[in-house]
Amino acid sequence: MVEEDQKEGYIEELVECPFCGAFVPNEFECIMCGEEMLDVEMNGRTKTVCSNCRTEVSTEAEECLNCGTVFTF
Ligand SMILES: [Zn+2]
Ligand SMILES: [Zn+2]
Repeated sequence: MVEEDQKEGYIEELVECPFCGAFVPNEFECIMCGEEMLDVEMNGRTKTVCSNCRTEVSTEAEECLNCGTVFTF
């Protein structure tokens, strides 16, 4: 029996922008302040969050303890 109300999501890795201090997706630019973050990923702090509720989760978590989202990879 499959639980139909389970949400699926993924673990999203965020990096700390050294310019504004926000945790943002690891992309070329900070989505908050627009600064280029090409050199940041090696130095900046990172955290992994639930894609659904943005609660911090372990990189090895199989589901979010906060909202129950199941991580599909
Ligand atoms: Zn920023
Ligand atoms: Zn969640």
